[in-house]
Amino acid sequence: MPPSLFVARPPAARLPTWVGVRLALCAALGLPLISGCATPGTQAAARLPSRHQVRLDRLVVKSDFSISDDDPRIRELHDLRDEVRSTLLLPPQRRPVVVYLFQDEDRYSQYMQAAFPNLPQRRAFFIGTPGELSVYAFWGEQVREDLRHEYTHGLLHASLEHVPLWLDEGLAEYFEVATQDAARINIDHAEGLATMVANGWQPDLKRMEQLEDVSEMQRADYQEAWAWAHFLLSESDSGRELLLAYMEELQSPAPPPSLADRIKAEFPSPEERLTAYISTFGAGVGRARVMLGQDPDAEEPLIQPAGASQ
Ligand SMILES: [Zn+2]
Repeated sequence: MPPSLFVARPPAARLPTWVGVRLALCAALGLPLISGCATPGTQAAARLPSRHQVRLDRLVVKSDFSISDDDPRIRELHDLRDEVRSTLLLPPQRRPVVVYLFQDEDRYSQYMQAAFPNLPQRRAFFIGTPGELSVYAFWGEQVREDLRHEYTHGLLHASLEHVPLWLDEGLAEYFEVATQDAARINIDHAEGLATMVANGWQPDLKRMEQLEDVSEMQRADYQEAWAWAHFLLSESDSGRELLLAYMEELQSPAPPPSLADRIKAEFPSPEERLTAYISTFGAGVGRARVMLGQDPDAEEPLIQPAGASQ
C-alpha cells in the first residue's frame, strides 16, 4: 500500500455528503513521511476520542462517549468484518483498524481541521498510514452507513497488498448497504445508473482502472464502481469466481494486473452485460424503499430497461 492514503465519502445526488479524495496525505500536508501524518493538533477541542475504548478482535473503537461492545453498531461492524472476509475470501487481517468516533459533528470537524488543515471537510474518512489504519466519523444520523463504508476500506487495506481505487470504492459502496433482503441495492446509485443508461452512457472498466486519485472521481464513477462490484459479486458464478481470483492476486506485493482485460477475455461484451444487469435493479429498489419506510412508487420511472429512451 502507499505510504498513506485517505478515502472519504462520495458526492451524493441528494444527500449532503462528500466528495472523496485519495492523496498522498503526507505530501499534501508538506510533511516527511516519518513525521507522523496523523499527529493531532494542540487545541483541547482537537483531541482524538480516547475516553472510552472497545476492542473486538482487530477492531478498536475509541469514542468520546461510553459505548458497550454489545452496542448494535459495534456488533454490526464485527459482523460486517466476517461478511467482508467470507464474501471476498480475504486472508486474516494483518493490522487492526482503529475507529475514532466523535460525539458530534462539531467535535469531529474541529479535530479534522486541526489535524489535517489542508484537507476538505468531509463526513467521514478512512486514513491509512504505515502506523495505523484509521476511520474517523461522528455519531450522527448517517453514522451507520459511514462506519460500514469506511470500515470496509479498513478491512481491505488491512488484508491486501494492493487495493485498486475503483474496486476500493466499489466494494465500500457495496458493503455500506445493510439491506441484504433488497439485494444490497443502493437506491441513489441504481436510479442514477438507470438515468445514465437511458441517456446513452456506457460503462468502461478500463477507464476506471486508470483512476489513481479519488479527487478524479465524480459521482458517476462511484456509481459505476458500485455497479461493477455488484455485477461481479452477484450476476453469475463465473463473475464472482473471476473477482475472487483477482482478490487473491491482490494479496501479492506484485503490481495487480488489469481486471478489465481479464473480464474482456472471459465475458463476451461485458459492458453490454453490465448495462443489462443495471436494468434488473428495479425490484431491489422497490424492496429497499419498503425497508426504508418509503413509498416504493414514490418516484417514477425508477429503473428503465437498458437502452430505453427517456
Ligand atoms: Zn470510500
